[in-house]
Amino acid sequence: MIVIKFGGTSVGDANRVANAIDIVAERRHLQPIVVVSALAGVTNDLVAATEAACEGDFDRVAQIIDRVRQRHEDVATRLVQQKFDFFDSFLKQLHKQIDQIQTILRGIALLREITFRAKDKVVAIGEKLSSVLFAYSMMMRAMPGEHVDSEEVIITDGRFGEAGPLMEHTRAAAERVLLPLIERNLIPVMGGFVGRTRDGATTTLGRGGSDYSAAIVGAAVRANEIQIWTDVDGMMTCDPRLIPGARMIERISYTEAAELAWFGAKVLHPKTIAPAVAEGIPVRVLNTHNVASPGTLITEEGDTRHEGPRAVAVKKGITVVHMTSNKMLGAHGFLARLFAIFEQLEVSVDLITTSEVSVSVTLDERGNLDRLVDALRDVAAVDVRENQCIVAIVGRNLMNDSLNVARVFESMRGVPMSMFSLGTSGLNLSIVVDDGDADRAVRAIHRALFEQPVEVGS
Ligand code: ADP
Ligand code: ASP
Ligand code: MG
Repeated sequence: MIVIKFGGTSVGDANRVANAIDIVAERRHLQPIVVVSALAGVTNDLVAATEAACEGDFDRVAQIIDRVRQRHEDVATRLVQQKFDFFDSFLKQLHKQIDQIQTILRGIALLREITFRAKDKVVAIGEKLSSVLFAYSMMMRAMPGEHVDSEEVIITDGRFGEAGPLMEHTRAAAERVLLPLIERNLIPVMGGFVGRTRDGATTTLGRGGSDYSAAIVGAAVRANEIQIWTDVDGMMTCDPRLIPGARMIERISYTEAAELAWFGAKVLHPKTIAPAVAEGIPVRVLNTHNVASPGTLITEEGDTRHEGPRAVAVKKGITVVHMTSNKMLGAHGFLARLFAIFEQLEVSVDLITTSEVSVSVTLDERGNLDRLVDALRDVAAVDVRENQCIVAIVGRNLMNDSLNVARVFESMRGVPMSMFSLGTSGLNLSIVVDDGDADRAVRAIHRALFEQPVEVGS
């Protein structure tokens, strides 16, 4: 068995859906389970609709929802129109789902308030529609696609908007729902991004979460491979949108890939790797627009021939909190007191650097910032810097050759830095700079490490 996941751009229009179905057809002998994202841009539209509803802007809600409906009708018209029975059934489902979210959005607009639970119900519709459309389109092409509601398979905790799987329940559901279909040579097609709590509420797994769904399903059925089909040839030395000359990575380890994803390489949702690691399943990143490309293979051992820098990623919109206290000098228990506050307020940190009198941390969410700063001020002087970014250089044993680090710093001359950290794992050299300096820092580092290594110390 394999899992084949298509991202939003890979199912963005009728031609792309047809192309994606060809990809599935060529892999039919591998017993695929298909996971699809919403059509490109639809989740953003649904989020915008919930925001417009909160502002009580009924016209804008109607306009956005109409666009979502029209978009699916257009793709369906081109894909399933010839067989009227399929087309009619799809339209019925489309209108039913649209009616449902309109009712919710009307409620939100009246209250001018939205719960995370209601928001998940609305934004989940993108994947519900795309997966139904994909399954009908497969049937149209005489492919045995069978739509499966992802809520029947992915059972999650109740953290709406950022839910995590309950693996035991998910595994049992996958065995009950997916395996009998595969035994009958059918191809299950489900939406990514969406799950359900044990008491039946719709949840979503976080933006970009369809990759995570694919990995969860892959782990649940112990698939042989999890394939992430997207719009680039694979994982690259940097985001090719930022560095058009970025190079393909053929093989990379789970830990390197997870680190890159965590530090902003959007090609994979940051949580995708964990379920694959748990079952030792290879993950392959492939390009729907260039099927001949071998893609990137992500495994436990990665590329054994290669150590040192593999890629650079950037995570923007970071907040840095600097905490200083003279009392810290030699005082044991100080850090424990400081971090107890983070724990209490459920704020997680990415990077930490310390000196004798100060501690600096980065946060990637602003949620509880004001309360956090208030509480920290009881213990230390606090300085907050917003609009920062982390530029992360990832690779195995970065510290084995100090030339790597020297090249990075040499290339960064003239760019002010507010923190840097190199973990003893040697997996990640992270530098914090102003958001405004992010692109030039990334370009300089990429050039220094992957294009024309800069001379150092000559
Ligand atoms: P999908 O809709 O298929 O999930 P995403 O837009 O979420 O696609 O992810 C693919 C995008 O990730 C690429 O178009 C690319 O711009 C971006 N990206 C960021 N970092 C990297 C990287 N290191 N390698 C490849 N792509 C990257
Ligand atoms: N459609 C969802 C999003 O846009 C999930 C995904 O595409 O992976 O965030
Ligand atoms: Mg994605």
